Amino acid sequence: VVHCEAEEASPTSSRPYVQEAGFNWKLFWQFLHPHLLVLGAAIVLALGAALVNVQIPLLLGQLVEIIAKYTREHIGSFLTESRSLGTRLLLLYGIQGLLTFGYLVLLSRIGERMAVDMRRTLFSSLLRQDIAFFDAKKTGQLVSRLTTDVQEFKSSFKLVISQGLRSCTQVAGCLVSLSMLSTRLTLLLMVATPTLMGIGTLMGSALRKLSRQSQEQIARATGVADEALGNVRTVRAFAMEHREEERYEAELEGSCWKAEELGRGIALFQGLSNIAFNCMVLSTLFIGGSLVAGQQLTGGDLMSFLVASQTVQRSMANLSILFGQVVRGLSAGARAFEYMTLSPCIPLSGGCCIPKEELQGAITFQNVNFSYPCRPGFEVLKNFTLTLPPGKIVALVGQSGGGKTTVASLLERFYDPTAGVVLLDGRDLRTLDPSWLRGQVIGFINQEPVLFGTTIMENIRFGKLEATDEEVYAAAREANAHDFITKFPEGYGTIVGERGATLSGGQKQRLAIARALIKQPTVLIMDEATSALDTESERVVQEALDRASAGRTVLVIAHRLSTVRRAHHIIVMADGQVWESGTHEELLKKQGLYAELIRRQTLDAPLTSTSP
Ligand code: ADP
Ligand code: MG
Repeated sequence: VVHCEAEEASPTSSRPYVQEAGFNWKLFWQFLHPHLLVLGAAIVLALGAALVNVQIPLLLGQLVEIIAKYTREHIGSFLTESRSLGTRLLLLYGIQGLLTFGYLVLLSRIGERMAVDMRRTLFSSLLRQDIAFFDAKKTGQLVSRLTTDVQEFKSSFKLVISQGLRSCTQVAGCLVSLSMLSTRLTLLLMVATPTLMGIGTLMGSALRKLSRQSQEQIARATGVADEALGNVRTVRAFAMEHREEERYEAELEGSCWKAEELGRGIALFQGLSNIAFNCMVLSTLFIGGSLVAGQQLTGGDLMSFLVASQTVQRSMANLSILFGQVVRGLSAGARAFEYMTLSPCIPLSGGCCIPKEELQGAITFQNVNFSYPCRPGFEVLKNFTLTLPPGKIVALVGQSGGGKTTVASLLERFYDPTAGVVLLDGRDLRTLDPSWLRGQVIGFINQEPVLFGTTIMENIRFGKLEATDEEVYAAAREANAHDFITKFPEGYGTIVGERGATLSGGQKQRLAIARALIKQPTVLIMDEATSALDTESERVVQEALDRASAGRTVLVIAHRLSTVRRAHHIIVMADGQVWESGTHEELLKKQGLYAELIRRQTLDAPLTSTSP
């Protein structure tokens, strides 16, 4: 009879959040609004079921009264006398069952539709957020808003409507019938029940806290396992299996200990509440019995009273569980709704496009200052000025952490400059349509190509969804990828595995190049595109890149000077500024930073091939 709320605490409640947003009732209303009619029907059915539940104890009491009569005197037929009552009870049971079925079906329909709507809205809102938003958030947390939080909110909603309505109605209805049956007994009940409930709630909240701690401990253990399994290659390479085992075991021990403590708490709670509720029944029977003996109450009424008071107690226990559920549901809902109303600073689309025949691909950075939104005090670019002439290759070199990737990000409009402007053919990037800019003008290849867990064909087509198979093959040929792809048994239908795990670095990079080339970009950005590769794959990839560079405005970011030498113009970045610029020969002659970089690299070359 007694539920223990602590058992039902979900893992959601365990995740600590830095800021707790308020629940957005307006947004909730928008999701609920389309289902009002169905919700109304569900409420009516639930109320109906509750009212039927109130009727049942009264009829049961009458039935017991008839039985009692036949235990005293055996005149007449028990069956005829009780038949109509029995039929009515059966009918009520049937109606009650039907109503319950009805409102549960309706509620689950509303709940599921709302959850789908919420997930869809949240996902598309998340996808539209600024890159700066993702710099500051953990992906895992965002995903759990989509999954656990929506799930938790949905089940709380269903539970509150179904159980809440039913329990409230039953408590009210049964209290009325109780007081009609016996005022004295009702008064006794009204004193005892809330006292017991109060004690129960206190214990319940202590158990909830324990349960939260236990969940947190489980999450810690899972985190250890997740990290070890996710980075199994590194673990293997350092022969750290044993240490990881020990770490996991320690966390597991901790969680086992907590869970056992929780188990003991729940056991105590269940044991005590069983005693309490049994005592309530006994004292009701005892006091009720003395009233029956004193002819102040009939046996049947006592029976009705007993059943009805059990209903009241069960309903009140339900309500106290529900209270916890409401709190959890509201905070889960607040988390699910929080990012739906957040609008990004840089929209995904909107603004003008330059017609294809007019597009030249000249890029200018004019006195650009920039600091990352999540690190406002730290200026990465200071008064940075750079020109990429159309159809030419410009190389950007400099120390790691000098701001080269940042330049590429500004060009992609992942961020907007803090001051100054970035121009494409003399037009401020902020006036141009970002989706056109990213989708059709700029091709971006970076050090760590990210592939999706689908076929090679689909991965290349990611660059241009409407591309024909022929276009895909052409792009693959241009990227030096066609040969290795056709050597696979499944050819272009090969699944690349999650994050491209089944391909070598050079193969992945060539697919990424094909993906960038299929959009026929006017401007190509290569950010350290070959620095993660071994010499052999570097040669193949470099060949593809050289071919791809022809006739395009190209920004090559590299620290390997072999790749840079071919550039028409070389910019050396330091301290967020252009330090020096010129051709390879000019810069060498200057005996400045570039010459120094070259000198250091020729010294380092035999030892390390990737560090600058
Ligand atoms: P490079 O590509 O030349 O190695 P980056 O442009 O990646 O350099 O980084 C320049 C500086 O900006 C570094 O100090 C780095 O720590 C910082 N930085 C890079 N990305 C971010 C980011 N997303 N948020 C905050 N700071 C960043
Ligand atoms: Mg970089």
